[in-house]
Amino acid sequence: MVTILGGGIAGTVLAGALAGNQVPVTVYERQPEPGNGAFMVLDGHAHESLAQLGVPLEALHERSHTVPGFRFHFLPEERRATRSQGHRLYQRADLMAVLTEFASAANAPIHYDKDIIDLDPSTGALHASTGAIPSDGLVIAADGIDSIARRRLEPERPAEYAGQVVIYGTIPHAVQLDTEPDVMHFHGQLGEGPMPTSTFGHMWNDKAVFWFTRLTREPLPQQDIGSHPAAHWADAIRAADPMISGLIDTILAATDAVHVSNARNVPFDNARAVQLPIVLCGDADHAITPAAARGAREAIEDALALYRAITADESPFDAMTERRIRITEERTQQTRVISRATA
Ligand SMILES: Cc1cc2nc3c(=O)[nH]c(=O)nc-3n(C[C@H](O)[C@H](O)[C@H](O)COP(=O)(O)OP(=O)(O)OC[C@H]3O[C@@H](n4cnc5c(N)ncnc54)[C@H](O)[C@@H]3O)c2cc1C
Repeated sequence: MVTILGGGIAGTVLAGALAGNQVPVTVYERQPEPGNGAFMVLDGHAHESLAQLGVPLEALHERSHTVPGFRFHFLPEERRATRSQGHRLYQRADLMAVLTEFASAANAPIHYDKDIIDLDPSTGALHASTGAIPSDGLVIAADGIDSIARRRLEPERPAEYAGQVVIYGTIPHAVQLDTEPDVMHFHGQLGEGPMPTSTFGHMWNDKAVFWFTRLTREPLPQQDIGSHPAAHWADAIRAADPMISGLIDTILAATDAVHVSNARNVPFDNARAVQLPIVLCGDADHAITPAAARGAREAIEDALALYRAITADESPFDAMTERRIRITEERTQQTRVISRATA
């Protein structure tokens, strides 16, 4: 029996893939229903991995928006436009709906409203607010950035502020803008490093406008995180790039509420070696700031690696050890590419 703690992106898709291959699996998820949240972008590689896990690509395409290209307005003209690599944009609720339908079609038992409040690091026994949960065998902790499993296994490895506050907004209807439609536009101001100190990103099409701001500043106190009227943050958002205040004002005027949060990373260069019987997966092991736009892709890759190991009767611990090496290499490579592009 495989027990999965957390029915987010990784937990749900892994449960569906395992159940579809007759591997007994059970998921415990604290939310009363599949999660909601900010929109996100997945690249072609993430889609290939989802397809290999068995998720129907047609269902994913139906619930997402194509992103054929990116435009980095703060770079010299000849380096501004980039074609995407199969990227698509999802409202998190839509992505979760597809993954949940996939898991449900495979009869994967996902127990919602089950908050796991403790777990025993040596046996993997879980404790819900309603009492102990019997679990034998492998426990996969896919319980996100504030993972209770990581807190028990590695209390010295908490999530850390990544230096930026991120603000996300969606306008659920078409708004005609002067920028090219379907393209993900990045405006902002470069500082001394390769990444902009402030960014205003947006994409629009005939259905909606998706936009975000990233601001380098001190972290927000907990009580300021969450949903706010867009007007509350208008001045800070305009300051992300004063050259495009007209575009920002048009977008803000059509936006009701924004979601505001502190970008965070889970550092894993000093992570403890993977140990029986609990394996950390996805954000629980190696969350990365939304600015990297790759946390979900990495969580899906973890799910695929674990799925392959479990169904081939190989070691899930070796699989996740291998994943950590791979993630480190890929992030180093991505940093090099960004540094070259902005040099
Ligand atoms: C604003 C923002 C924008 C982002 N944009 C992108 C993007 O463009 N591209 C990209 O690839 N990534 C993006 N990410 C990152 C992405 O959202 C995460 O990397 C991804 O959700 C990780 O998946 P996961 O399954 O590991 O964790 P999650 O999806 O967070 O799932 C964890 C689940 O565990 C549950 N849980 C937690 N604790 C318990 C408990 N004690 N008991 C029971 N259940 C529990 C939670 O309720 C949750 O459902 C973004 C993140 C943010 C915050």
